[in-house]
Amino acid sequence: MSGAGNPLGRLGLNDSNLHLAAGETLFQQGDCSDRAYIVESGLVEVVAKTGDGEVVLARLGPGEVVGEMGLIAGSGRSATIRALSDSELLVISAEQLRYKLRDADPVVALLLETLLRRLRDIQGGSPNANPCEPAPAGNLDHRPMLDPHEAKSVLRTERRLLDAVKSGELEVAYQPIVHLSDGRLAGFEALARWHHPELGNVAPNHFVPLAERAGLIGAVDRSTFDQAFAFARDLLAAHGADGGKPFVSVNLSAVRFDEEDLVSHIEGGLRRSGAEPEQIKIELTESVLLANPTRVAEILTGLKAIGVRSVLDDFGTGYSSLSYLHSFPIDGIKIDAAFIRSLLSNSNSYKITRAIAQLAGALELEIIAEGIESDQEVEVLRQLGCHMGQGYLFGRPMAPEAAIERIPAL
Ligand code: C2E
Ligand code: CA
Ligand code: CA
Repeated sequence: MSGAGNPLGRLGLNDSNLHLAAGETLFQQGDCSDRAYIVESGLVEVVAKTGDGEVVLARLGPGEVVGEMGLIAGSGRSATIRALSDSELLVISAEQLRYKLRDADPVVALLLETLLRRLRDIQGGSPNANPCEPAPAGNLDHRPMLDPHEAKSVLRTERRLLDAVKSGELEVAYQPIVHLSDGRLAGFEALARWHHPELGNVAPNHFVPLAERAGLIGAVDRSTFDQAFAFARDLLAAHGADGGKPFVSVNLSAVRFDEEDLVSHIEGGLRRSGAEPEQIKIELTESVLLANPTRVAEILTGLKAIGVRSVLDDFGTGYSSLSYLHSFPIDGIKIDAAFIRSLLSNSNSYKITRAIAQLAGALELEIIAEGIESDQEVEVLRQLGCHMGQGYLFGRPMAPEAAIERIPAL
């Protein structure tokens, strides 16, 4: 609050609450918009200047929000707020709001911005310039909080992704996973790929979060599963079962665990494809486990009963509360690439990897290390008791035909 008549200083703003005595002004029309408020008790009125006086636009009591328009739109105050009785207000700072809006979906941001503009049109008048003092270096500024332009691009990409799922444009690449003891092929991880005619190759790190936000991740995962099952069958046909059947690991996102009949879906998909359940491993992350432990435990038990195994992905990056390892029917862990990347250069990474491997070994879990790029890493990981490895050293993700061709060479 920096405009004339700013009452905050003398009103004793503590951390988040503001007391306004009856008759006092919270801010005036034209002031800087740098906070919004929720009325906790009392009553305030919203007053706009007219040519020859004032008009009361609204009276707001407990639970109502005031001062949000200028803050979100980055414009000056469009009205004056005055207390009609002693009032307590909860402050929402610009920093708090900016933080919350930063992750808002751009389409929601566009709708919010449109609503604000329409409301302003109804109330008459264009937005005032925001007369806030320049923000000190390093502090947050007073630009509008929403960027409506991003929405169109997000909507277009979401539409393209939906079309890609429907038209089978999403493909799957397979990255080899080998036994560290002798370099024999153990299986592959199935990784989704999106080759868009105009956008080119869109990386999963870009489209997986987009699919999550757009509610399309279930469809993406199902497409990967169907292709991975067919690949597992072809793999078996090409490779045979000598030295164990090669497996295919598939990533499963959180939303699919909400599906009513996930286990029977997977079972049905396997039956139709001709792949064998023991060829499939589900990769899930710790955050999925912790979000809904009971449900996830039920599903993993169901999967285990039909012969499908599960692996905890990105291990070591999440909560890593090792205590839950034994309370879920998990068959293995995948030590995150971040530890492997600095295994040789950072003694802490080495110690953490060693501790994880010891514990997982004691629980008789299968240990896979991912992101292996050098022979020295293989040597260290083997000594630490890791069973399997995945990384560019053994092969990059590749098309299914190339993966099947590569088998004899591994
Ligand atoms: P992730 O499950 O941790 O997969 C491993 C990622 O590490 C892959 O990236 C892989 O290409 C990359 N990688 C493997 N070896 C190396 C290495 O030696 N060095 C380096 N620098 N990187 C390596 P990718 O394919 O871009 O996938 C990124 C993430 O996208 C995956 O991480 C996974 O979380 C997600 N994802 C991919 N496909 C699917 C899918 O079908 N469904 C879901 N839900 N998520 C998927
Ligand atoms: Ca994975
Ligand atoms: Ca991973």
